[in-house]
This record gives sequence, structure tokens and C-alpha cells, in this order.
Amino acid sequence: MEHSCDGWHASWFGDPLRGTNTQVKTRNADVAVVGAGIIGLFCAWFLARRGLRVVVLERKTPGAGSSLRNGGGVRSQWGTATNIQLSVLSEPFWDEFEDRFGVDVALRRIGYLFLARTTDALAELSRQVALQRDFGVPSEILSASDIGTRWPSLDGFDVTGASFCASDGFLNQHRVVHALTVAAEAAGATIESGADVVAMDVAAGRITAVHTTAGTVATELVVNCAGAWAPRVAEQVGISLPIRSRRVSLLVARPAHPLPVGLPWLIDSGEVHLRPDVEGRVQVGGFLGNDETVDPAAFDHDADGWWIDAVLGQVSRRLRIQIERSSVIESWAGLYPSTPDQHPIIDRTDARMVIVGGFAGAGLMHAPAAGLLATELIVDGGINSIDPDPLRLERLSRPIATAERTGF
Ligand SMILES: Cc1cc2nc3c(=O)[nH]c(=O)nc-3n(C[C@H](O)[C@H](O)[C@H](O)COP(=O)(O)OP(=O)(O)OC[C@H]3O[C@@H](n4cnc5c(N)ncnc54)[C@H](O)[C@@H]3O)c2cc1C
Repeated sequence: MEHSCDGWHASWFGDPLRGTNTQVKTRNADVAVVGAGIIGLFCAWFLARRGLRVVVLERKTPGAGSSLRNGGGVRSQWGTATNIQLSVLSEPFWDEFEDRFGVDVALRRIGYLFLARTTDALAELSRQVALQRDFGVPSEILSASDIGTRWPSLDGFDVTGASFCASDGFLNQHRVVHALTVAAEAAGATIESGADVVAMDVAAGRITAVHTTAGTVATELVVNCAGAWAPRVAEQVGISLPIRSRRVSLLVARPAHPLPVGLPWLIDSGEVHLRPDVEGRVQVGGFLGNDETVDPAAFDHDADGWWIDAVLGQVSRRLRIQIERSSVIESWAGLYPSTPDQHPIIDRTDARMVIVGGFAGAGLMHAPAAGLLATELIVDGGINSIDPDPLRLERLSRPIATAERTGF
């Protein structure tokens, strides 16, 4: 694993030696962003607005990785200071999305209700809520009777309590990806679809060019936003990234009976979760106690039949909501690009590859913060908005200090 380089210029873009590569190349850029997922698009938008010539290299089309396969969730209920702060930094962008980008992303703040089934689980939720409130998140702990009072359909649930945050919710990720593609281009970035990054030139330990299936880009800085494929891109310059691909499934269905109005996103002990979707549908997911690591180059994009049966059974038993198998409208599987501590990496390396990856199940909601912090790192010389240490690559070569455990 390559460690961060502390010797970077305060602002590399003030370096007068920049751009002295005289080789003839297809095109030139200050920055090549690899991957037009939601992280790469936000990075491109922020960087282009700071005046950099940005080329985004995407082997398929924008959002083709995990960014169009997720559940649309945005929440501030996390278990570590780092993840809570990434949510808090991102929140204004979701609130003001339409004003900034001219697109209504259908944000619905229905709240997330994390159910606790044991005393220990409730104690852990209480710890998390106390931490969240330190950062201004309006989350709260509810007793079993509070839950029944607020949502009568949940009365009598066999729970010890729950945590709830009314400002958590979900949005339309397709509209987000589309809006950011348009916005990044409007800010001056070039987005190249069908440009698979296959190799990089390195001279004196630093990147000088990026080769793609659609030609070469001369650049001295690469931002690796390739999601689950980020380790493969990093390998091209000899960097080992501890990001594994966890396969996760979701389904959308029509329940046997309409959901009660005002039901929040229900998360049951990491086993199963369900939220209201648009037009009377529900979205259902859950690890069911499994943790499957797959090869991102060859994984099954369809949800398994056994998983659909099992998750609907759990929804019936644990959440008392009946959904017939024949009512499933669509189902799919995608990838959580996950680090060992479930925190992302936002860091630079000696080769001048900036890593912005490992966002696991939070890459959509944390994408604005990712773009903001990556731009601070690249343009301002360092991350200023939050403590950068938990985001550094080198932390992952040491025993885990703090890990996020609220993923579902
Ligand atoms: C089922 C599921 C549910 C989820 N639910 C949520 C949720 O509710 N809320 C939330 O915030 N997050 C959720 N996530 C996680 C979220 O989707 C991811 O964290 C996020 O999409 C990661 O974005 P990214 O831009 O890093 O990666 P991606 O979207 O995967 O983008 C990476 C891009 O890089 C491209 N690429 C790869 N290799 C190369 C190469 N060599 N050359 C050029 N391009 C390349 C890929 O084609 C891809 O477009 C969920 C994920 C899944 C799978």
C-alpha cells in the first residue's frame, strides 16, 4: 500500500512546472477523473468550478456502476463522527439541489426508524444518537410505546426501542446522476463515455498520461472515482487499495395492502429494511446475515430467487407487512465498495493519483461532501472541512481504530 505524500505543494495548481510534458497526446487535462458515478460527477463539478480543465473518463455511461443501482437513501443517522460529518456536509446540497442544479430530485424526508430488538442494541443506538446530536442532527431515541403512538400500525412490535431522525429520507438517484452530468459539463468538464482506462504512463514516479480505449489523455493528476473498480485502476500505478465489493440486493414491490400513510423507512437490526416508494410501492432490502464479497468484473446483477423469497418472509415475520412474490415489480443486485472500517478514502498518493472511493452504502448521500473534500485536497492543498485522518489511505495499514457499524 502506498502512503500519502506529505510533500505536495500547498496548491499543486500554482506549480509553474505544471504542463511541461511535450509529448503529443490526443488531449490534455489538468485532471482526469476516472469514473462517472455520482462521486466522479460531483468531483468533476467542484473541480471544474475552481477553473481546472477536467476530463471524466467513463468506460460505459454515467451512473452505470453502482450509482443507478442504489436505494436512493440519504440519512444522518450514522455511528461515527466521520460519517455523520459527511452527511452534515452533504445535507445543504440535497436541500438546495433544485436551486443549484435546476432539477427536482423528489427528496422525501420520511425519516429512518432503526428498530432495536435487544437492550444492547438500544444502548448502541443511544450512543449513536448522542454522537449525532453533537453534530446538530435532530435524531432521537423512542421507546416501544412512543413508536406505537407515532405509528399505530407498528404498535405491539417486539422491540426495546428505536432511533429516529425525521430529516432522513430518499430521493431519485436517476435525476441526481443526470443533473450532475449536465452540471459538470456546464461548469466546463468534458465527460467521455466509452473511455475505459486501461493503463497509465508514469515518469519519475508520477502519472503523465492515461490511456483509454478511446485514446490518451495527457495529465499529471488522476482522481480515481471508479467505485468498486477503483482497486483495478489503482493497480495501474502500483497502488493497492483495500476496497472489496459486497454484493447487495434490492426489490420493489406492491404490498398486499396499502402502507399506512406516514410510515418511515424501517430498518430491523441490519437483517431487513423496507421503505415506502412512489405510487404505492415499497422498496425492500437486507443482508439477511450474509456478507458476500464478489469480483466486480463478474458478478450477477440480478437478485437471487432465494433472496427474494427469504427477504419477503422476513418482512412478513418481522415487519408484519405482506408482499406476494408475484407482486415483485423489479429486483436487482449491485455493489458496495467497502473498506475494512466502512469509511471512505479521500487521499492523495505520491504518484499523483487521488483516491475518492470506498463509500460502501453511502456513496449517493455522501457524494457532495466527497466532491467538496477532494477539491479542498487538490486545489487548496488539504482537507479543511473535517478531520482528514479517518479518510487517509494509510490508516488502513494499521489496526482499525473506529469502524462504522450501521450499514444495512
Ligand atoms: C443495492 C444498493 C443500494 C444502495 N443504497 C444506497 C443508498 O440508499 N444511499 C446511498 O448513499 N448509497 C447507496 N448505495 C451505495 C452507492 O450506490 C455507492 O456507494 C455509490 O454509487 C458509489 O459511487 P461511485 O461513483 O463511487 O461508484 P460507481 O457509481 O460504481 O461509479 C464508478 C464508475 O467507474 C466506472 N469505471 C470503472 N472502471 C473504469 C475504468 N477502468 N475506466 C473508466 N471508467 C471506469 C464504472 O463504469 C462506473 O460508472 C447502494 C448501493 C447498492 C448496490
